[in-house]
Amino acid sequence: MKKIQMVDLKGQYEKIKEQVDQSVLEVISSTAYINGPEVQAFQQELEAYLDVKHVIPCANGTDALQIAMMGLGLQPGDEVITADFTFAATVEVIALLGLTPVLVDVDPVSFNIDIEAVAKAITPKTKAIVPVHLFGLAAPMDELMELAKKHELYVIEDNAQAIGGTYTSKDGSKKKTGTIGHVGSTSFFPSKNLGCYGDGGAIFTNDDALAHTIRGIVNHGMYVRYHHDVVGVNSRLDSIQATILRAKLPLLDQYNASRRNAARAYTKAFQGVEKIVTPTGFCDAALGICDVCDCHVFHQYTLRVLDTDRDGLVAFLNKRGIPCGVYYPIPLHLQKAYADTRYQEADFAVTNQLVKEVISLPMHTELDNEQIDYITQAVIEFVTSS
Ligand SMILES: *Cc1c(COP(=O)(O)O)cnc(C)c1O
Repeated sequence: MKKIQMVDLKGQYEKIKEQVDQSVLEVISSTAYINGPEVQAFQQELEAYLDVKHVIPCANGTDALQIAMMGLGLQPGDEVITADFTFAATVEVIALLGLTPVLVDVDPVSFNIDIEAVAKAITPKTKAIVPVHLFGLAAPMDELMELAKKHELYVIEDNAQAIGGTYTSKDGSKKKTGTIGHVGSTSFFPSKNLGCYGDGGAIFTNDDALAHTIRGIVNHGMYVRYHHDVVGVNSRLDSIQATILRAKLPLLDQYNASRRNAARAYTKAFQGVEKIVTPTGFCDAALGICDVCDCHVFHQYTLRVLDTDRDGLVAFLNKRGIPCGVYYPIPLHLQKAYADTRYQEADFAVTNQLVKEVISLPMHTELDNEQIDYITQAVIEFVTSS
């Protein structure tokens, strides 16, 4: 059996090595390292893939969130609602801009932001909601957009974990995640579903005026060279990363299909094991994994293990040569940097429980059935004997 890895970047690279190596060398000899034709071409190809009017590449997914908030003109004191159970980047940029983060609980089935908790948290100071399509599953966008419309709020989608995913609205229309709210962001960090070989990110919007504002912000607030109209940042995707992303974008659907296949095999093996709760989408397909609408692109395959020593399971798997992850071990509202006396523990019952139960298994495009069998047998052995 091949050595099991949490993410197998090498195996994926080897399949596209020739093309990637050649195009990287071409960029190097072209010397168009910044804002070169490769960046322009990638931008257009991603716009076409996502069916969105504007893609603005930038340096990483955290910048993308920050720039989206700057572009919307959010001001210090404005409240921004986001999920308590996610990676810290989301709340970090809210705080960094002097905005007031308002963390809310998540849904125990989808792990995504809880719509009732969002509704309850809205005040006259609320300006925006930031749903995160966590682990690759689309957040409840219909409900969020409705709530945002009613209260005149912006919706900023953190799509760092769900690129290539599709959201199906109640009316049957389908859109790529990240293109439904007023603005969306993503990350091309190597382990993401569409990863480059360094740092990268992008912002998406269908709003022409907002796109124009953001294109200036990423470039020192310049719309005309050396005229700085707004305070901006320096956040660029470089041409080498862009050419790598151009090689990988046509394979994204295939990559996500491989992830879904691995997820399906995992879930099948865990059927009937009482203490294991497998991840699910909104769609009632067999095994709870949607084959119809691609709502879940499995950036992570995350189980809940009930009445089990989760940390003991992590240690047991590691001893068997199976890497795994705990995303995320601490709720954001309990992190020192984001603690706030206004928070009540009772309002975070789900997150407080999830951080004790979640475990993410190896998930990438190169997993094979032998590895999946080995992993699932070890998990079941520990869970059923404890
Ligand atoms: C990875 C990630 C980010 C940050 O992306 P970087 O490119 O690492 O800055 C933001 N939000 C979420 C949910 C992420 O998973």
